[in-house]
Amino acid sequence: MKKVCFVLVLLLMAEQCFCWGFYGHRKINYLAVFLLPPEMLVLYKPHIEFLSEHSVDPDKRRYAIPEEGPRHYIDIDHYGNYPYKELPHNYDSAVAKFGADSVAAYGIVPWWVQTMLWRLTAAFKEKNQAKILKLSAEIGHYIADAHVPLHASHNHNGQFTNQNGIHGFWESRVPELLAEKEFEFWLGKAMHIKNPGQFIWSRVLESAAAADTVLRFEKELTASFPADQKYAFENRNGITTKVYSTSFTVAYNNKLLGMVERRMQQSVYAVASFWYTAWVNAGQPDLKKLSNKDFTAEELKEFEELNTNWRKGKVVGREHD
Ligand SMILES: [Zn+2]
Repeated sequence: MKKVCFVLVLLLMAEQCFCWGFYGHRKINYLAVFLLPPEMLVLYKPHIEFLSEHSVDPDKRRYAIPEEGPRHYIDIDHYGNYPYKELPHNYDSAVAKFGADSVAAYGIVPWWVQTMLWRLTAAFKEKNQAKILKLSAEIGHYIADAHVPLHASHNHNGQFTNQNGIHGFWESRVPELLAEKEFEFWLGKAMHIKNPGQFIWSRVLESAAAADTVLRFEKELTASFPADQKYAFENRNGITTKVYSTSFTVAYNNKLLGMVERRMQQSVYAVASFWYTAWVNAGQPDLKKLSNKDFTAEELKEFEELNTNWRKGKVVGREHD
């Protein structure tokens, strides 16, 4: 009995591994570095481990402050039907129409990415290395989240359609099992984004349009799949854990015709392009001549606190994958 409880607790914890999962976020930021021009690589390549590791700080911050959660998603289907014309893409207009509390409650990811771009651009102008690295790592997280279909749906974990767990299935289990072996990541060079607002809104609308497929295909596959083969037990760090079986995961990925791979590739490309855009818009500062190379005591303390809160494992505010 004790063991069963433990497994259940772990499964619940696994569901709290938000977004692309830690694996996906780290991988996306890591790969994005290779799309940058040499003038940026001089900074980003030596710090590639930092950029990967801290890609998950925004998720850890959800255990510390309640305002963090809504920055990762938008329940856009709350605003009617695709393409959700009711919802203004301008933040002030949206707030004027629906009120700040309501806008925050249903999620703000497309606006938050733009705020982060503004901050990163300012950090480049300041030539502040610590800020550039921290903000680069974190904007990568929010951009990647905007690419996940279930981050643009109120039914984000299939909780309204009896598909609990699908969130982590699409964004963690599929890439963890298949990205290294089967996904392709030769993506060319980062581009300058002329209209970042329009860019991120397009990606969010694509996510929203795909959410229905993500949910429906899992349901169809479950109906046609032998019930005793949908899940399997795997040993993770010495603990027996219930997971979607390899055969079910592969079948789902095939049915989606590469959607997970495509969204991951687009995330990598978008992250690199946002970094590049911030640098260009800041006047292409020489990244060999930066100040503030070390993190301040305060910043180091913040990193530590993020980890402490995350280990305690209690999300502050509304939970939303
Ligand atoms: Zn997230």
